Amino acid sequence: MSKQLDYHAIRAIFERFRDAEPEPKGELEHVNAYTLVVAVALSAQATDAGVNKATRGLFAVADTPQKMLDLGIEGLTDHIKTIGLYRQKAKNVMKLSRILVDDYGGEVPNSRAALQSLPGVGRKTANVVLNMWWGMPAQAVDTHIFRVGNRTGICPGKDVIAVERAIEDHIPADFQNHAHHWLILHGRYTCKARKPLCKTCLIRDLCPYEDKNL
Ligand code: SF4
Repeated sequence: MSKQLDYHAIRAIFERFRDAEPEPKGELEHVNAYTLVVAVALSAQATDAGVNKATRGLFAVADTPQKMLDLGIEGLTDHIKTIGLYRQKAKNVMKLSRILVDDYGGEVPNSRAALQSLPGVGRKTANVVLNMWWGMPAQAVDTHIFRVGNRTGICPGKDVIAVERAIEDHIPADFQNHAHHWLILHGRYTCKARKPLCKTCLIRDLCPYEDKNL
């Protein structure tokens, strides 16, 4: 774990991320808050590309909780059986759709606690929805952000909650909204788990990681 970078280094890093990609976007396809919740819930231990492939057909027929209930668990399972853990995920999607219809008038609630009370929705999923749909500076820490945060010292921490707190505490306010996507994209395409692309990394001179791949 690298030690926490100082304010000036973090500001310089995010200025470079912003210059390279001013409006970073998540890669999970969705058409409304509900389909975003479903897509994120389906994405645990699966790739965004794999989820998108399955949800294109699914969301064409079921883009609301009521339509999902009408489709039924077998119809849902047919669409998502290429995704890992699909049986458990299908059960959760049906249960959360039922709760949304019965308790929230078919709408998706937008507090972290209410989102986390839904089956299959953890803190990370709730933060993705709050950030991507509601524009709240909520920081969903996935495996990429955890790795990048600790290697670079942008937001080091021994567990995901510590990394989430470090992002909130150390990343300047003007970068908070997009921090999640910049860090994910950096981890996914440059600061990869094995063989990070340090030679072409745009923050190489600011990164203190001792085992750079040069
Ligand atoms: S220099 Fe290497 S280790 Fe540091 S952020 Fe870039 S890719 Fe990651």
